[in-house]
Amino acid sequence: MCTPLLAFGVIVATSTRSQQEHAAREGALQGESRADGRYRLEHMFAPFLCAVGLAHRPLITLRQRHTHRCLVFDPADGASWSKSPPIGDAVVTRSKEVVLGIQTADCAPIFIFDSRTRARAAIHAGWRGTLGRIVERALAAMVAHFGTRAEDCYAAIGPTIGPCCYEVGPDVLEPFRREFPYAEAVIVAPTASGRARLDLVEANIRQLLACGLSRARIFASGLCTACHPRLFFSYRREVMTPGRTGRMLSVIGEPSS
Ligand SMILES: [Zn+2]
Repeated sequence: MCTPLLAFGVIVATSTRSQQEHAAREGALQGESRADGRYRLEHMFAPFLCAVGLAHRPLITLRQRHTHRCLVFDPADGASWSKSPPIGDAVVTRSKEVVLGIQTADCAPIFIFDSRTRARAAIHAGWRGTLGRIVERALAAMVAHFGTRAEDCYAAIGPTIGPCCYEVGPDVLEPFRREFPYAEAVIVAPTASGRARLDLVEANIRQLLACGLSRARIFASGLCTACHPRLFFSYRREVMTPGRTGRMLSVIGEPSS
C-alpha cells in the first residue's frame, strides 16, 4: 500500500499472490465456472479488495494489450465497461465512486493522483507502453479533461520487475536509445553482445519528471516482482512453467464512508 497517499483518503495497493491463491482455492471448492472470466476476476480479488477497504465499489479494469492507449472513464460508462472492458492500457477519471484496477506480473502498475481536482489515472506500463510514453499520455489526458496541473499531482508505482532481473536485447534497447535522450540512465550493465538490463521504474519516473511532477511526490515500491516469489507473480520468472503465471491486481480508489 502507498502510505503517503492515505493522507488524501486515497488507497493505492497491490495484491499478493497468497490472497489470490486462497480465493482461487475457495472458488475451486465451490465449483466456480471458469468460463465466466469477469466473475472470476472479482471473486479472485475479493479478499484483497476487502483487506484494503475497497470491496464496496465497482472495479473497473481494461483489456490490457501493451498499447499506449489511454481511455477516459465516465460514470455513465460503468455498466458497459463492467460487461465488456474496453481495450487500453491506461484509464483516467474524476469519479471516486469506482476503483480502477491494473493487472500485472512484472510490468509497472502506475497511478497518478491530482490532489486539487481528485482526478486520477491507472496505467499499465511494460517496455512497449513505456516506449510509447503511456504515462505522459495519461497525464496529458488528465490535463485536457480535468484541468489537472502537474504540480498538484502525486504518483505511485507498484511492484515491477527490477533492473536486477529484467534483461532485454537490442530489439528493446535500440528503440529506447532512439526515443529517449536519457536512455543510458535507465539501461543497466550493457554487455558486448548487445544485451542489458532495463530499469522500467526509473524510465517511467523520468516521464513523470518531464511532465513536471516533483520527485518528492513520486513513490515507488522498490519491490522487484522476480526477486520475491512468495509475494508476487512474475511472468519472467515463471515463463518456464506455462499456465502457472498469475497476475497481481493493483488498484486506486477511495473507501466508501
Ligand atoms: Zn529482481
